[in-house]
Amino acid sequence: MAQLLEAIYDEIRPLLGQGKVADYIPALASVSPHQFGLAICDVNGEVTSIGDASTPFSIQSISKVFNLVLAINHYGETMWERVGREPSGLPFNSLVQLEYENGIPRNPFINAGALVISDMNESRFASPHIGMRDFVRRLACNGEVVANKTVADSEFEHRARNAAMAYLMKAYGNFENDVDDVLHSYFHNCAIEMSCEDLARATNFLANKGYSVCADEQVLTADQNRQVNALLATSGMYDEAGSFAFEVGLPGKSGVGGGIIAVVPQQFSICVFSPALNKVGNSLLGVAALTSLSKRIGWSVY
Ligand code: GLU
Repeated sequence: MAQLLEAIYDEIRPLLGQGKVADYIPALASVSPHQFGLAICDVNGEVTSIGDASTPFSIQSISKVFNLVLAINHYGETMWERVGREPSGLPFNSLVQLEYENGIPRNPFINAGALVISDMNESRFASPHIGMRDFVRRLACNGEVVANKTVADSEFEHRARNAAMAYLMKAYGNFENDVDDVLHSYFHNCAIEMSCEDLARATNFLANKGYSVCADEQVLTADQNRQVNALLATSGMYDEAGSFAFEVGLPGKSGVGGGIIAVVPQQFSICVFSPALNKVGNSLLGVAALTSLSKRIGWSVY
């Protein structure tokens, strides 16, 4: 495995310098684009990694996976009355579908969907952000995981668009809690910092029928786990879910911090990180590395 990762690193290294880091908040705009890390965790919890795989980065939208899992745990099937399961075909922060579909977001991985789910978790936990932080600490076997307060505060300052989505959903009766309280929790979850090694461990249950070896915990039932992987495959990669399925063929979720997690069912969880993004907001080197990895080993699930 280590040799394979070396070969991939050599193959994609020439791409360093291409793409653009997220610049919608200053704290992310100042991240060095010249970073690349990759970690793979097998179903026994054994991790192999390369490059900047132990460097913590802003997990951003990858937090939507953990957010969803916490809600499924607590609300089960009933949660699907408030959020759909269809790809959106629109940018992750679009408002237009909400108006046509009575305030029910298309899926849990666009912002509107993640906000409704954050609203559910707000009702469930006394301190929602701590609930999430402790959950990812357990899954990653890393008690040091924390959110970057500067990033969270900066996101909150620039909250207008996410606030607009939340208020629109409130107008349709699909938002229970105070909008700013939920945004606060949501942004803190996005601002959690984890490394590729942390994330490969923390998402390993997705490759292991819902069981986390690190936490020694059945996080989801095997059936719920299959459903989450299906949603990742159809909606996890912004407007690139189709070509990601075509080229890589694995369930995956990316974030504007430059991380992507991917799942080889019953075998491996993978996390790749490189902050420079392509045009749709996915890590440019991350997509290239996963494409190469999947092709070399024939991992596509299709
Ligand atoms: N915190 C970002 C937002 O809500 C998440 C962006 C992302 O990673 O997709 O706009």
